[in-house]
Amino acid sequence: MNPRILIIEDNELNLELASDLLEVKGFVVLQARSAEAGLRLAHQTAVDLVLMDLSLPGMDGLAATHELKQDPATRHLPILALTAHAMRGDAEIIAQAGCDGYLTKPIDTREFANQVLAFLTSARNRSGALTAA
Ligand code: MN
Repeated sequence: MNPRILIIEDNELNLELASDLLEVKGFVVLQARSAEAGLRLAHQTAVDLVLMDLSLPGMDGLAATHELKQDPATRHLPILALTAHAMRGDAEIIAQAGCDGYLTKPIDTREFANQVLAFLTSARNRSGALTAA
């Protein structure tokens, strides 16, 4: 079955670019333009992976990640952060918020879909290992 990716991103151009790159590769994309809308969608529909812009109006991506990871209904969802900040220390902050990984923006248009698929595959392998243990 085609992976279902929830993209939470307030920048329209980034949202459309990421969506197009994933849809071309067969992913099903669900779009949210705010953390609040993304949290609603994560509860309402089946999702395999969340792509989380960290800089959002209202609730930011780190807070939204924290909410998803606190909630038993959504805590299993792998979260891949999208961040324009790739400064020293940021990786630690992103990990502490509960993100499972991150990609820096601007995204690499040739590699983006492969990066997302690789992340999804490794997240599935990790959760499989945990279940088996
Ligand atoms: Mn943003």
